[in-house]
Amino acid sequence: MTCRETKNLLNGYVDGELDSTNSISVETHMRGCASCLADVENLHDLAAAIENGSLRFKVPARVKRNVQSAIRAANPETRRSVFSWRWAGVLASAVLIIALGWGVTTRWTRSSEETLLINDIVSSHVRSTMANHITDVSSSDSHTVKPWFSGKLDYSPPAKDLTEQGFRLIGGRLDYLDNQPVAALVYLRSQHVINLFVWPSNSPAFKEPKELARHGYSLIHWTRAGMTYWLISELNLTELSECARLSME
Ligand SMILES: [Zn+2]
Repeated sequence: MTCRETKNLLNGYVDGELDSTNSISVETHMRGCASCLADVENLHDLAAAIENGSLRFKVPARVKRNVQSAIRAANPETRRSVFSWRWAGVLASAVLIIALGWGVTTRWTRSSEETLLINDIVSSHVRSTMANHITDVSSSDSHTVKPWFSGKLDYSPPAKDLTEQGFRLIGGRLDYLDNQPVAALVYLRSQHVINLFVWPSNSPAFKEPKELARHGYSLIHWTRAGMTYWLISELNLTELSECARLSME
């Protein structure tokens, strides 16, 4: 039996699907062929790795090599038979398991980072109201507040005056969040301070507003045109979402 004939039968051999005549032929060939023997060992290793779940979090280097050599072994003429649907399925499962493991890790990291950020935002908001340091520049005029940030930040935050809509701009302040100086725009609504923190987004350019309540404060977060926005106040979420909607217009 030739190498090509043997390789075409290897998946069936590993799966125990060959009749005894073909099994004996494969085994006889493997005794004198290191290449086919290695292929069978690779297939066995891959099957074992899938079964014992060792691929769940980390792909062993050996399995990676096995997959690569299995792919190399599948030359164009024999690709279909060597790379049977069964093995394509096994490989797809491996890829899915790896992807799921990766997804879980990145999601967890992101949410724990976000939790830290939310705590920092609440702290900054509370500090700004308690330390009597609400604004660095006090004005209701967006043409005064907006230019004040230039030279202090390398981006220009929007400083919309929403007085007519019931949210009075009272000024701006430099703050520090997410490991960088950020713009804080300050609004007032019936004696409640509202901080709108703005800085350039490092992930997606657009994110729908997300509302949450933490430590007795309402927060709304969104991303527009590459800028990240966090709105926070002790106002309820209904009133604050009106402020968010006006800020986004
Ligand atoms: Zn061979």
